[in-house]
Amino acid sequence: MVQLYAQTLYRDGKKSGTIFEYHDITKQYEVDQMKSEFVSTVSHELRTPLSSVLGFTELMLNKELKPERQRKYLLTISQEAKRLTSLINDFLDVQKMESGKQTYHKDFCDLQHIVEDVVRTQKVNTDKHEFVVDVQAAHRTVLGDQDKLIQVFGNLLSNAVKYSPNGGKIIVKIRGEQTRVAVDISDEGLGIPPEAIPNLFAKFYRIDNTDRRKIGGTGLGLSIVKEIIKAHDGDVQVKSEQGAGSTFTVRLPLVIDQGDSLAEPEEKG
Ligand code: ADP
Repeated sequence: MVQLYAQTLYRDGKKSGTIFEYHDITKQYEVDQMKSEFVSTVSHELRTPLSSVLGFTELMLNKELKPERQRKYLLTISQEAKRLTSLINDFLDVQKMESGKQTYHKDFCDLQHIVEDVVRTQKVNTDKHEFVVDVQAAHRTVLGDQDKLIQVFGNLLSNAVKYSPNGGKIIVKIRGEQTRVAVDISDEGLGIPPEAIPNLFAKFYRIDNTDRRKIGGTGLGLSIVKEIIKAHDGDVQVKSEQGAGSTFTVRLPLVIDQGDSLAEPEEKG
């Protein structure tokens, strides 16, 4: 995109020529575009849970309600308020990561505990999905920030649920890989078009398909996953078949005790 500036030159009071200047403003245009998309995404994402909180509070204030109904409404209000908090935390996290101010408090963590913890939390939000945790790795200890790793697997599992609107199986497999431990999170959902894969972990990137337009989100979840995993010297990859499902794989360096052997346990059966 170019912007054209024209300046007329005069000599002895007479027009003697015109200078044209072309400025390439593509970059500026893209930044402006991103900013306005960001503002509209943020406003939309914040407004949805807020209107729910307001709606249910008004209902409770204006009506005589049975205790069980009151409880149901309060539960919704609390869930929506939690969603708001987690959205705001995502925005703050991205800002901290960008300014290099994100801090990590690392200690020994058992990935199996983290994954089971996250699966338990996700199960509460859905009755359409079946969760399977398959632990094949003999060693699962990594040096990591427990809360941040919970955030990573929380984001990946909530995506697996969110982008499998018809339900299905969500399998979390923990595998040993020489000096690393790999965690595969597979779903049987919408899948990802191949052309979207290179951009998938970019900030604010969302796939704009009719089949997922109604599914809310900010496009920040996977960029946060990538940053956290990078800070743990690991990597994250995705394989997907459109319409059949996706598998996200996180790999992290293993912490091995001196006496430990890296050999996997023998296959059963
Ligand atoms: P959000 O879910 O807020 O849009 P994310 O960064 O978590 O943002 O994901 C980016 C995009 O990647 C999503 O908009 C979605 O289209 C796609 N995506 C992520 N996880 C999955 C998945 N398990 N299955 C299908 N598509 C996915």
